[in-house]
Amino acid sequence: MSSSAKAEVRIYQNYINGQWVGSSTGETFPVYDPSIEDVIANIAAASSDDVDRAVVAARRAFDAGPWRQTTAQDRGRVLFRLAAKVNENASMLAELESRNTGKPIVEAEYDIADVATCFEYYGGLATKVLGQVNPVPTNALSFTLREPAGVAGQIIPWNYPLLMAAWKLAPALAAGCTCVLKPAEQTPLTALEFASWLEGIGLPPGVVNVVNGAGEITGAALVAHPGVDKIAFTGSAPVGKLIMKSAAETLKRVSLELGGKSPNIFFADADWEAAIDGALFGVFINQGEVCSAGSRILVERRIYSKFVEAMTEKTKRIKLGPPLDRNTKMGPLVSKDQYERVTSYLEIGKKEAKVAAGGSRAKQFSKGYYVEPTIFYDVDNSARIAREEIFGPIASVIPFDGENNAIQIANDTPYGLAAAVWTRDIYKAFRVVKSFRAGIIWVNHMQPTYVEAPWGGYKQSGFGRELGPWGLEEYLETKQVFVNLDETPIGWY
Ligand code: NDP
Repeated sequence: MSSSAKAEVRIYQNYINGQWVGSSTGETFPVYDPSIEDVIANIAAASSDDVDRAVVAARRAFDAGPWRQTTAQDRGRVLFRLAAKVNENASMLAELESRNTGKPIVEAEYDIADVATCFEYYGGLATKVLGQVNPVPTNALSFTLREPAGVAGQIIPWNYPLLMAAWKLAPALAAGCTCVLKPAEQTPLTALEFASWLEGIGLPPGVVNVVNGAGEITGAALVAHPGVDKIAFTGSAPVGKLIMKSAAETLKRVSLELGGKSPNIFFADADWEAAIDGALFGVFINQGEVCSAGSRILVERRIYSKFVEAMTEKTKRIKLGPPLDRNTKMGPLVSKDQYERVTSYLEIGKKEAKVAAGGSRAKQFSKGYYVEPTIFYDVDNSARIAREEIFGPIASVIPFDGENNAIQIANDTPYGLAAAVWTRDIYKAFRVVKSFRAGIIWVNHMQPTYVEAPWGGYKQSGFGRELGPWGLEEYLETKQVFVNLDETPIGWY
C-alpha cells in the first residue's frame, strides 16, 4: 500500500476491490505539509476509468457479494474492529492528520478519538434498525423492511479528513451499503492508512473503495456514474449545487452537508468569561476551517466595546506554531489555495470594516500558510465578510440592539447550518432558538459535536442529516410488504 520512496515522501495508490492499484493514466499528484510547504506524499490520481472500476467493484459487492447478506450483528462487529484499529493507531493517525492539515496535534487527537467513537456508535446501531407494522384497514399484514440504499459515493472535504470519512463510512456500512470514498485531494493520507486495514479486519473486497484525485475529475465521475445509488457530499455550497445538477441525470439520492456563516449571539446578560472564550473558540478552532464556525459574532450594543476589547486582548495571546508542537493553539491553513483565499478576504475586510486584531500573514514564520487570527469589528451584515464563507481565522463582529434585531441579523444569511446564543435568560434563549432557521443551535456553548446528535443544515447549508440514527437513515431504503390474509378473490371482474 504505502512505501517510503525517497526520504519521507510516501507513495499511495487507489484502493479498489481490495487491491492497491495505480492510476490508469499514470498520473500522480503531490500532498503537502502546509507548515513547511514540502511534499510529504505522492498519490495516484484516479481517472474516470479508475472510478468506473471502483464503482463496478462496489456494485458487485453489493449485488452479488456477501456484504448485503451479512447479518447486522456481523456488520456491527466489523465496525467495532475498525474502531479498535483506529484506537490502536491513534497516535500515528493524529500525527499524520496534524502534519497534513496543519491542525494542532492536540485537536487532531480529539478528532481521531471521535473517529473511533463514530465506528463504535454505528457498530451498536447496526442491530437497532427496525421496520414496523402498518395499520392498513383490511385483512392483511402490511409491514416495512429497511434495506440498504445500495452503492454510496462519498465525497469529503479537507478540514476533518478522517472524521468526515468516518461520518460517511460508518453509517453506510452499518446499513449494509458498499462505498466508494473520495477524500479531498489535499488530505487523503489518513483515509488511505485506514483503508490498509480493511482486508485484515474481514471486510470483503469491493465493500469499501478509496479513489483519489481532483473533484472536477474523480469526484465528478463518481457523481455521474450510473452504478452509484446515493451521493453523500460534504463541502462547499457551490460544489454542492454542481453535484445536485449532475446527480439529477441519474436521479440519485443526494445528501449535502455544506458551508455556513453561523451567528454567535451574545446578549448583555451572558456570563462574561464564558462568552469571551466561546466567541474565540467558536471562530478560531481548527484555524477557523470549520463549517459551523461562529464567524459572525453578534454582540448587544450595551457590552459591545468592552466585548471587542476583551476578545482582542485574548486573541493577541493565541499561540500560533508548528502543528506538532503541543503548545500550539493555531497552525497554518491547509494549503496555498486556502491561504490565498483567506488573505484575499483580509484585504476585502480592511475596506469594509475596522481591524481590532491580526489582519495579515503571521510574519514570524518564514514558511508555511500561517495567518493571524483576525477580528474585524463594526461590520455591517451586508458586507462580504459577513455574508461569504471564508473558512479561515477571521471574525466579523456586528453590534445589535435588542432581541428582535439580533434575530433579524442572524437570519439574514443564505446559510443555515448552526448558531449559538449566550444569555442567562432561559426564556430569551428559547425564543431565539425557535426563531433562528438553522440545523444546529447551541445555548451558552459553541461547537460541541457528538455522534449521538444530528448534524446538518437548513437553507443553502444543505439537506439530509449525519450522525445519530438520522445518519443511518440516509443509507436506508424503505420497502413495504403487503401480505393478503383474506382468502376471498378480489371479485372485481
Ligand atoms: P469543496 O466543495 O471545494 O470540496 C469538497 C469535496 O468535493 C472535495 O473532495 C473536492 O475535491 C470535491 N469536489 C470539488 N469539485 C467537485 C465536483 N465538481 N464534483 C464532485 N466533487 C467535487 O470544499 P472544500 O474541500 O474546500 O471544503 C470546505 C467546504 O466544506 C466549506 O464550504 C465547508 O463549510 C464545507 N464543510 C461542511 C461541513 C458540514 O458538515 N456541513 C463539514 C466540513 C466542511 P478536491 O478538493 O479534491 O478537488
